[in-house]
Amino acid sequence: MCLETKSVVSSHLYPAALYAYCRSAEDESPMRVGDDVVMLSDRQLQDYLLCAECEDILNKRGEMWVNPKLATVKDGFPLYEILIKGPAAHEDEDGGLYFASLNPELEVEKLTHFAMGIFWKAAVHSWKGKKRSPMIELGPYGDAIRLWLRGEGTFPKNVCLTVMLSRADRTLVVLGGPAPQSTKRWQSYFLHVPGVVFTLHVGKLIDLEMRVSCFHENPTHPIFVSDQVMGALWKRMGDQYRESRKTKGIFGGEGKAIS
Ligand SMILES: [Zn+2]
Repeated sequence: MCLETKSVVSSHLYPAALYAYCRSAEDESPMRVGDDVVMLSDRQLQDYLLCAECEDILNKRGEMWVNPKLATVKDGFPLYEILIKGPAAHEDEDGGLYFASLNPELEVEKLTHFAMGIFWKAAVHSWKGKKRSPMIELGPYGDAIRLWLRGEGTFPKNVCLTVMLSRADRTLVVLGGPAPQSTKRWQSYFLHVPGVVFTLHVGKLIDLEMRVSCFHENPTHPIFVSDQVMGALWKRMGDQYRESRKTKGIFGGEGKAIS
């Protein structure tokens, strides 16, 4: 991330702490959704990538604040509880829109840094054995994001990050992505961490409606809650779950949400 030649440490694509959140019991392995299977594995996505100093930047500017607030199987979803302490700008039966600018407990820079760090790591490494090509393609935006992560540049132009939370009682406690999402005129990638879906849009042709929904750039710092969108995700993950015999029984009584 600093582009210096230094000794590197073992880096994780997702903060290592999140694997523990995805466990429902001591003897169960965490799940990761991707490549059309739900993996039940302790195999964490890790490799020697960053120096200790850059790891420290990711840790202190985002992960340390975000990690303990994500949803866990056992202990609820602290970030959602913080979110709903603030007023909803809009609310209906499907969900709501909240402005982080009106909620002093929400740290906009840290939540953004957390997500951008994972997207960036996916753009510079395959995280998949011998495969060379990176997980996602960010083109010229990758380096602009790198500089922003290091505090050496402003938030990149033509980059838009949206943040969507699930309600605490409908949370999907899995890790998924970053992976491409089908869009027409620009590139989009989603990232699913327990309780939150981040979507990163890059490109000059991002339309205005999308641009104003950017969590970092819009001064209101919008956060969305939508059962409908989360429901679609549940369905997609549920389809993957059904196709994956490996995970049989893991959802147990929670199967109601996968319909
Ligand atoms: Zn470094």
